[in-house]
Amino acid sequence: MNLRRACVLIAATVMVVGSWGLAADAKVDQASGHSGWKAGLSRVVITPEKPLWMAGYASRNQPAEGKLQDLWVKVLALQDPQGRRAVLVTADLLGFPKTIYENIAAQLKSRHELGRDQFLLTASHTHCGPVLRESLFDCYALSEERIADIEAYSRELERKTVTAIGEALARLRPVTLWAVEGKCTFAVNRRNNKEAEVPQLQEAGTPLEGPVDHSVPVLAVREVEGPADSAEATRPGKLLAVVFGYSCHNTTLNFYQWCGDYAGFAQAELEKRWPQTQAMFWEACGADQNPLPRRKVELAERYGRMLAEGVAAALEKPMRPVAPRVRTAFEFVPLAYESTPTEARLKEAAESQQMLLRRWGQRMLRQLEQGQEFPKSYPCPVTVWRLGDQLLIAMGGEVVVDYALNFKRRFGPTTWVAGYSNDVFAYIPSKRVWEEGGYESGSFTVYGLPAERWAGDIEERLTAAVERLVKDTSR
Ligand SMILES: [Zn+2]
Repeated sequence: MNLRRACVLIAATVMVVGSWGLAADAKVDQASGHSGWKAGLSRVVITPEKPLWMAGYASRNQPAEGKLQDLWVKVLALQDPQGRRAVLVTADLLGFPKTIYENIAAQLKSRHELGRDQFLLTASHTHCGPVLRESLFDCYALSEERIADIEAYSRELERKTVTAIGEALARLRPVTLWAVEGKCTFAVNRRNNKEAEVPQLQEAGTPLEGPVDHSVPVLAVREVEGPADSAEATRPGKLLAVVFGYSCHNTTLNFYQWCGDYAGFAQAELEKRWPQTQAMFWEACGADQNPLPRRKVELAERYGRMLAEGVAAALEKPMRPVAPRVRTAFEFVPLAYESTPTEARLKEAAESQQMLLRRWGQRMLRQLEQGQEFPKSYPCPVTVWRLGDQLLIAMGGEVVVDYALNFKRRFGPTTWVAGYSNDVFAYIPSKRVWEEGGYESGSFTVYGLPAERWAGDIEERLTAAVERLVKDTSR
């Protein structure tokens, strides 16, 4: 059977289970006492105590002044009856950079025997979090002292994340898992609509341009016993955790306060509605999507409420019970650069009036002088999880919305796709965006990579890898 046909069948099976599987699964739960899943939860505040430099905008000219919200690392550890584990971390951060991912990976291997396929470090991509080690350094005016503060914070972040993962693994208890998709509509394609014109267009009811993905994947973790806190009688047990994603840059705000932005407000709103529930957010494929209009705290709060409402409404819909089976697969996919810069190009950049380009050129020239050779590609981490029949594809980098839409077409409409996972090292354009050009097609100097553009086969390479990994998890 070819893969596409298999996927159609999987999608059909999911739909069938979705329509009549609820009652059957609830009976199994009542008979056996639990579904076979075990889950453990933990969380830790990561709000910087010092006024660190803030991540995401080159235009900021001073460190943070205070906090509007705490920033969190939250963990959901899952284990199936065969003892196979999958650990999901969500964080109110711009993205985990490579060195932090590598250090955490090494510790998870030695302390918990977790391979790279078995954990995901996801981020909300808030632009009101701290700068992390060696992450977008060309964007910021960083003194030696500020770099030392960033290093100390990054080490502490690694320690806290690894500790929180250990705690979640130590708290495994029987649960049931449920999956569904909700909807939320504030994301706007920022490449195809002018920011200043969006409010007028929205007021006039004029449809906006460009692809978007307004779906909200929702995973609910419920206690096996105890009273239902939902109107849906087929889903007994208290809601212990709700995990959700959305394809939209977390960039309503650009001020000087620590804040989770719309995703922070959405998580806080859900935890207010369900006080004993851990709400966890991952950025999906929102690299070319913005929350518009923006730049006001009221708007971040409004978008947070809209997203929380989308999740709450989804929790009331018939949900697919997730069978207790973990399958995981992982690959580093080498993404080729179109070319590496010549010395002449770097010298030109090093003289540029644009501060960012200048820092990049100077830094790259220093590397050349030290005899370092530029690599020809970047290893993008790609993970696929199959929890029961639920597919979650997670990719490093800032992933544009085409990937979410294309993978849903390829693997079925209930496929979940997370970007910003494990290592956020550059934008990841689709073939379409790469051909069109513009910010999301490259912007390599922002991330400081030794190149100015990806090779044109980037989408083919990633799609081929995802197909291999999806196949691996279907065995
Ligand atoms: Zn971004």
